[in-house]
Formats: sequence, structure tokens, C-alpha cells
Amino acid sequence: MAPWGIYVHVPFCAKRCPYCHFVLVESDGSLHERFVGRVCREIEDSPHRPPEVASLYFGGGTPSMLEPAQVARIVEKAWTVLGAPRGEVALEANPDGLTRERLEGYRGAGINRLSLGVQALDDGELRALGRTHTTADAREAYRLSCGVFEDVGVDLIFGLPGQDFGRTLDRVLEWSPTHVSLYGLTYEPGTEFARRRDRGEMKPLEPGHEAEMYSLAMDRLGAAGYRHYELSNFAKPGFESRHNLGYWDGRPYLGFGPGAHSYVPHRRWWNLSNVNRYLDAADPVMGSEELTEGQRVLERIFLGLRRDVGVDLLAFQEEFGVGLLTRFRPQVAELGALGLVEVEEGRFRLTRKGRLVADAVTARFA
Ligand code: SF4
Repeated sequence: MAPWGIYVHVPFCAKRCPYCHFVLVESDGSLHERFVGRVCREIEDSPHRPPEVASLYFGGGTPSMLEPAQVARIVEKAWTVLGAPRGEVALEANPDGLTRERLEGYRGAGINRLSLGVQALDDGELRALGRTHTTADAREAYRLSCGVFEDVGVDLIFGLPGQDFGRTLDRVLEWSPTHVSLYGLTYEPGTEFARRRDRGEMKPLEPGHEAEMYSLAMDRLGAAGYRHYELSNFAKPGFESRHNLGYWDGRPYLGFGPGAHSYVPHRRWWNLSNVNRYLDAADPVMGSEELTEGQRVLERIFLGLRRDVGVDLLAFQEEFGVGLLTRFRPQVAELGALGLVEVEEGRFRLTRKGRLVADAVTARFA
């Protein structure tokens, strides 16, 4: 059986960014101890025992708001109860407040991969995004992180009106991180940016302009030797995120913390997303579903098309008893004629042109 991923959602940020819709609360640190205790109890109470663990991932929120000793307690609990990961123990961090001592503390806690929320390398753009760090903070945090970790990636946002994304890419390429994740700015309901857009105070970029930024990233990062191994992710050879590869490849994962999702074939369940309710609940699971064959087929296609290697046609046929190209003949023919998808060496995948309109392509299979 394939090794499983373990995810811990840390729902704390110093301040909610105006575009963010993630499960979190603005935090002064007062809930952190309770949270660590609750997550450790949730891990202990889990009825699942992975045959093998591929990765442990701290996402958020801002996991680097937890003290290294608090991260260490969760890592130790997960290792003891669920098993030590074969390689990757990753933590998302924001540039604010990262000192060498703190970073060494995380390394001592077992973290071996850092994902730095840089987002932009222009102070005006960072202010527009409501971020609490500056370009200088990001540069210093990256420098310090590289002194402690070999594997340091950065997260960037594109699609901000007026953004000079090429300049941010140039600056990031000078740093040469192991991994770059790109997130297109979205206007999720309930966020401050969505309200500003609705009041006419903010005008989202035209989709064509956003596609130009994405295309620029594909060109620059590709030329610099990064593999575009997933729609939003680029890695130097050997530095792909094992944890996220597990999601896209349909491997099981256990999620802990508020709003975290878990999946074992063919069942998915998810936790209460209200942080206080999560902390107080005897059982944090809020809901679950058995995946129908139709859902599994669609997920295999949605997730597979995110990867550069696409969907393995033989594996698809073996799992579902019918070939993808047969089952979706009209869609494949139409999208193929538009140059958006291709079949090569037994894999069905997006072309470069298809990656620019990936959501529209996958929607054709829904
Ligand atoms: S730092 Fe990240 S998780 Fe926290 S509010 Fe901003 S975008 Fe959301």
C-alpha cells in the first residue's frame, strides 16, 4: 500500500490578509498551547494507522507562529502514534519574526523543509496584499532559512492589479530556491478583496492578463531549470513536494486540526472548521462521505490533469474498468482539436496551452 501523508492545520495568523479565506483566527498566542494539546489528542485518538508515512506537513494559517517546542511536541506525537515519515517534514513559515534561533529550533524539532510565504518582492505590492512583512524582511528570512535548511521554497501570488510580476520572478530567481509555488489571486466570497471588488474599489485583472503572468512564470522558471511538475508548482530536480504529490496521486492522508480533511480509499472526512468549536469538541469530525465511482473518476481526472505527467491511462482502465479516452470520447476529441490536451506514452495530459485554461478544461469532464 502506498505511504500516507499527514497534515496538521495550524489556524493562526497575526492578521488576516484581505484576500484570505482559509480556516484561521487572528492570534495573540493565547490559544496556541490549547491547540497543540488538542491536536496531540486528536492524533492519539485516530483509529487509523498508516502502513508507512511519506510526509508530515504543517500548513496554515501560519505554522511558524507556533514555538519550535510546540511544533516538536506535535512531530513527536505523530511519529510515535502514526510512524516517522520516510523523508519530508515540512513547515509553512511567514518571513515575520523568523530568527536564526527559531529556525534552528524548528530543525531540532524534525522539520527538514521550509516553505516561505514571500508572496511578492515589492513593498507596494506587499502592502496592497495586506502583508505584514517587507521585501527586506523576506530577503533576510530567506537568507537565514538557507543557513539552517537545505530545502527552502517560496510561495508567490500573481494576478494583483498593477503588479510587476516579472520583477518578482527575476528577484526570486536570483535567490534560486528549491521550490516555487504560484497562487493566482482570487476573490473568495466573504473576503475584504471581494467586498472591495463589489464596491467597485478594486478591479480584477482580465483573465488574459493573468494568463500572461502565468505564462511568463512558466518561461522564466522553466529556463532556470525548474520542473513544472504541477499546475501551481515548480521544483528543482528532486525537490518536488512529496506531501502534495500524494494528494495529486490520490494517496491516503490524515488531516489534523480545524478544517483539516482526511482521505482513505474511498472515504473522505473533515473536521469542524470553527477554531473554538474544534478546540472544545470531544470529537472534531464534522462530516464524511463515501466517494461514488463517478466522483472517483472525476477526481482522478481533475487531480491527474494538474500533474505534468497527466493521467496514467492504463491505471485508469484497471481501476474503473473502462478507458478514459472511451468514456470521455467527445470531450477528449473536442479539447484535443483545440490543442488543450494530448495523449503521449500512455498518459493523458494538458498541453502548455491547456495549462493556461486548466479550470475550463477540467470543467468539461464534470
Ligand atoms: S498569512 Fe497566509 S494564511 Fe495567514 S491570513 Fe495571510 S494569506 Fe491567509
